[in-house]
Amino acid sequence: MKVAVVFPELLGTYGDGGNALALAWRARARQISVSVQEVHLGDEFPDADLYLLGGGEDGPQRLATERLREVGFADRVREGARLLAVCAGLQVVGRHFAVEGDDTFPGLDLVPAVTVRGTPRAVGDIAVRVGSRLLVGFENHGGRTSLGEGLSPLGEVVSGTGNDGRVDGYRAPGIWGTYLHGPVLAQNPWWCDEILSELVGEPLAPLESVADRLYAARVREVTGRESAS
Ligand code: GLN
Repeated sequence: MKVAVVFPELLGTYGDGGNALALAWRARARQISVSVQEVHLGDEFPDADLYLLGGGEDGPQRLATERLREVGFADRVREGARLLAVCAGLQVVGRHFAVEGDDTFPGLDLVPAVTVRGTPRAVGDIAVRVGSRLLVGFENHGGRTSLGEGLSPLGEVVSGTGNDGRVDGYRAPGIWGTYLHGPVLAQNPWWCDEILSELVGEPLAPLESVADRLYAARVREVTGRESAS
């Protein structure tokens, strides 16, 4: 299985490249072979089973979008590659997004998501309910994202902001979008396994690691805060 970390020099804030490390580690622990490749701006754009787009500041985010447009990135995903898009990544593959000032920049139009500027900037811990489980992470963005018809959110915001204070991210076939840094797959081993399982097309053997204990501690903190408020 090939995992590509796309333009880490532009879309690599808050260690989102760590998502590849978490995936690879949890895959290899089950004897699933994984290669991880970093793709840099001038590189020939490689094929991959899963592309990872991370967070980024407005300027680099715009540059990354231009290059992704040039290499036909959206078609690669339409043709079957999977995508995990975090924060700026989530905005870039949408219809358009707001950059410095109030300028609007065209996205890759892979999903019908639109991002405008919002105040205050959303900064801090975030928890999102996905089905019966919680995702925990960190967010730092000025964008507010609304989802067009037919695009489902990833989950409901329990604390923090996410897309708009109510829901976070989106979910489409083969595409996961979220505002959560962490890196999100390192902090939420159950979600890492869910994505991995979809990639390999079968259920995975359970795997206990220190990440599960850290995750449980974070969830206790979030839910404790919720019930105390
Ligand atoms: N530049 C975008 C925003 O501020 C994304 C930020 C990020 O990826 N952390 O909304």
